[in-house]
Amino acid sequence: MNKKRIDLHMHSLFSDGELLPSELARRAQVLDHEIIAITDHVDSSNINSVSNLVNVCKDINDNWDIIAIPGVEITHTPVEIIDKLAKKARELGSKIVVVHGETLAEPVISGTNLAAVTSQDVDILAHPGLITIEEAKIAKKNNVFLEISARCGHNLANGHVGKIAIETGTKLLINTDTHSPSNLITFETAEKIGLGAGLTKEQVNEALIDNPRKLLKLRGLL
Ligand SMILES: [Zn+2]
Ligand SMILES: [Zn+2]
Repeated sequence: MNKKRIDLHMHSLFSDGELLPSELARRAQVLDHEIIAITDHVDSSNINSVSNLVNVCKDINDNWDIIAIPGVEITHTPVEIIDKLAKKARELGSKIVVVHGETLAEPVISGTNLAAVTSQDVDILAHPGLITIEEAKIAKKNNVFLEISARCGHNLANGHVGKIAIETGTKLLINTDTHSPSNLITFETAEKIGLGAGLTKEQVNEALIDNPRKLLKLRGLL
């Protein structure tokens, strides 16, 4: 079994992370990560910064034994423009599109979860808080993966998210939403977070090993 980490949600200096993308990738490599997605917060004001990430990810991928994927996390925008921003992010070279879901930790506007799971260009609904069965079913149909979060605050609803995903057959990921070096975790810690969310060992393995690969294959990245 391949026990290397795949973490598809993290932040660099291009938004509110502490590290340059290169240092983020280097630290992740040392912690046995195989693949990371750098998914900085965007709205209409800074979405063009994706092209910078595209450049640095190329440097990393050409030279180091870790795959860095340029992405975005569409964050706190009007729900009406989420689909449009997701399309724009892809045009600009973003390979993974995350939407900042309705976490219990922040006043994310209601309707964000629904807009995310309805978009054909969104890959991951991050920390979706009290996501409904209906939203999860739409996510499943549209291949939008739901996130169990390692991040304090966002993790308050992990048990609920896990339960709804299992009930509906929607695919789960376990991501860190890393903002600083200490947020990166090992495979073993990620396993514990999955178990803590109420998943079985098998379901944890799916979330950590099979599902991220399925998502990357769907987008032609593996
Ligand atoms: Zn952030
Ligand atoms: Zn995030």
